[in-house]
Amino acid sequence: MNDKYPSQRLEKAVDQISLLPGIGRKTALRLALYILRQPESFALALGDALIQLRFHAYYCQKCHNISDSPLCEICKDSTRDSSTLLVVEDIRDVMAFERTGSYKGLYHVLGGVISPIDGVSPSDLEIDSLLKRVKSDSIKEVILAISPTPEGETTSFYLYRKLSNFPIVLTQLSRGIAMGDELEYTDEITLAQALRDRSRLQFPS
Ligand SMILES: [Zn+2]
Repeated sequence: MNDKYPSQRLEKAVDQISLLPGIGRKTALRLALYILRQPESFALALGDALIQLRFHAYYCQKCHNISDSPLCEICKDSTRDSSTLLVVEDIRDVMAFERTGSYKGLYHVLGGVISPIDGVSPSDLEIDSLLKRVKSDSIKEVILAISPTPEGETTSFYLYRKLSNFPIVLTQLSRGIAMGDELEYTDEITLAQALRDRSRLQFPS
């Protein structure tokens, strides 16, 4: 049975907050009451941050990282090695590799992995734009940093087939490294090591 709220405005706030992943209605109510107890400036700053994020943050035209301008800071940085691309699932992976301080090339954010069960096909991901970059940006090496899950393996295999005809070196991180959702449990040293110990990507033909 639905709870009866003393205020429609409170109920509406709970409705919205509980749409966030991992937030049930109980937690949403606790957060709404917390916001209500804060100074008005808190709600204004929170609302403004959300609006700024949604309306004024972009996906970088080149690598699809999040950026405040059409090209992200990493793509704009001319001191980075533009001949190497590290292909990752999402922005959190970029943040994790940047924390290691040991990667100086550029990135390409796929925006997920191929997953027929979840209705994610290659065309839902930034794969065409990756192939375009490899074709036109004098890329010498593409490193795949994709989860060793069944979906991740499917994605790696798909990319392997698409990229194996290009005159590039195609490598992958050394195995056993969790990416995406699991990445926050991987420390910087392990990640830097997996990058250093990368190997040629090969599938049995
Ligand atoms: Zn970028």
